[in-house]
Amino acid sequence: MSTIAKNIAKVRARIREAAQASGRDSSTIGLLAVSKTKPADAIREAHAEGVADFGENYLQEALAKQAELTDLPLTWHFIGPIQSNKTKPIAEHFHWVHSVDRLKIAERLSAQRPTHLAPLNICLQVNVSGETSKSGCAPEDLPALAKAVAGLPNLRLRGLMAIPEPTDDVAAQHAAFARLCQLMTDLDLALDTLSMGMSHDLEAAIAEGATWVRIGTALFGARDYGQPAP
Ligand SMILES: *Cc1c(COP(=O)(O)O)cnc(C)c1O
Repeated sequence: MSTIAKNIAKVRARIREAAQASGRDSSTIGLLAVSKTKPADAIREAHAEGVADFGENYLQEALAKQAELTDLPLTWHFIGPIQSNKTKPIAEHFHWVHSVDRLKIAERLSAQRPTHLAPLNICLQVNVSGETSKSGCAPEDLPALAKAVAGLPNLRLRGLMAIPEPTDDVAAQHAAFARLCQLMTDLDLALDTLSMGMSHDLEAAIAEGATWVRIGTALFGARDYGQPAP
């Protein structure tokens, strides 16, 4: 068994155990494999183990890998910061975007989504850690943003995403994820997605309702940023 195959089995076991511990059905929790900085071959290997969803942060890198993997039926998720001049290729080449945090980006994605494709699935990224994080909309701005995004024609607003400040304090992990869950409930829209939990905190995220866990390191090993990302 390859390292990636073993890692996938371990992560799936963690997801199952966490789901069981909180009385959830583990089939409601999706494994989003975060493949940033990793080669197309790593994605191919993960796909052979039954992983279908891949998350990428850097547009040029993602497009290059997509071009190498057109023979596989993969679902692509954009999860990185979005510059407004990059929205068109994102609208054209992804199935999901988890990192929308302002209306201008959503409007551009909707306008640029090719109409022969299904609506682009959207999560709004929320800053649940206060001033320490730069990305994500402020919780107080979320209701207006969600309402506006829900009305855009070529998008399908699915839910919320957060990247809480990393911490080993399990209670703090739970608090941040519970906050995101509460924010979604308070919106009172028909949303079904909470994108939260990474390699170090997926258990807390699942306990608080995660429907996508975004896992990089625990599947593909540590990332080498020696080469600057494109
Ligand atoms: C890199 C990244 C991940 C994966 O993080 P790991 O700690 O390696 O599991 C998840 N979500 C986002 C938004 C990321 O940028």
